[in-house]
Amino acid sequence: MRIGSWIDKIRGEKRFNEPMRRYTTFRIGGKADILIFPEDIGDIRKILSVSKDRQIPLFVLGGGANLLVRDGGIRGIVLSLRKGFRDIKIADRTLVSVGVGAKLTEVVGFAADNGLSGLEFAVGIPGSVGGALIMNAGASGKEMAKIVESVTLMDPEGNILNMVGDDIGFGYRNSRFPAGSILLRTRLSLREGDKREIREGMKVNLEERQKRQPLSFPCAGSIFKNPVGNFAGRLIESAGLKGYRIGDAQVSERHANFIVNTGNASAEDVIRLIDYIKHVVLEKKGIVLETEIHIVGEEI
Ligand SMILES: Cc1cc2nc3c(=O)[nH]c(=O)nc-3n(C[C@H](O)[C@H](O)[C@H](O)COP(=O)(O)OP(=O)(O)OC[C@H]3O[C@@H](n4cnc5c(N)ncnc54)[C@H](O)[C@@H]3O)c2cc1C
Repeated sequence: MRIGSWIDKIRGEKRFNEPMRRYTTFRIGGKADILIFPEDIGDIRKILSVSKDRQIPLFVLGGGANLLVRDGGIRGIVLSLRKGFRDIKIADRTLVSVGVGAKLTEVVGFAADNGLSGLEFAVGIPGSVGGALIMNAGASGKEMAKIVESVTLMDPEGNILNMVGDDIGFGYRNSRFPAGSILLRTRLSLREGDKREIREGMKVNLEERQKRQPLSFPCAGSIFKNPVGNFAGRLIESAGLKGYRIGDAQVSERHANFIVNTGNASAEDVIRLIDYIKHVVLEKKGIVLETEIHIVGEEI
């Protein structure tokens, strides 16, 4: 992509032809044309207007923990809010105000330090607060939807909107923010709790996670959503696919709903493995699996 002089008017760190594998927990992904770390809302508004005027595609990256970037990379601008938008503060007694670029686990720690309960379920979920809102991240039967009081975002026209929890349309590992919006902040509604009990709850959740998940290889968490009344991992395992591999992408031996990058897996390896799993599970179990991870970017 040819980059014009508009780029000089935008503040914040910029990286060109940046390999996205550095920004995804899968450690996979081709190059992004431009990766920008805006410093404030004014920068984001400028980027949005350039992207609109010049028809440059714009993609918002969180922690890259639920993302597969194709091998051809991402055309246009990738925006990361992890530098300028990561403050965490108490807005009012049990209300915590958080920038979307903060890591979810940092917020879990902040809540525990301040004796605020309600986020223990999120301990160990990788990624940013922004990604957790978009994905309605959850564990142990709890999810972000239950604690989100409001979310502040910029719509594609550059307007700042404040959406309250009930209007967001959170669903199972998804949300319905207006298309093309950039989430900026959220207010999480927690409750007063006993610091020792909060830490104990976190410890139990973390141990449970370490037992079940293959944390020694790069991955992107659960690949498929659980079908109603069933578990994707159980279906994949009983279809005989545990350990099945294409290239360096392998169905985890530990948790069949995880695909792990055992070395140098390409996005194509992972996509072929996803298609194969879907095909076998449909054939053997009659169930259509739906991917939970977001697949973005271009093929080579
Ligand atoms: C080892 C492991 C374990 C995991 N365990 C769990 C689990 O227990 N529960 C669970 O729910 N998930 C789990 N996940 C998946 C992942 O952690 C969550 O989905 C997480 O919330 C993704 O956040 P992220 O910031 O990494 O988002 P990304 O992967 O970077 O992005 C996800 C989507 O959100 C969009 N997005 C991100 N930020 C913004 C923003 N500010 N504005 C607009 N759009 C934005 C992106 O464009 C993309 O479409 C796990 C992943 C791993 C690797």
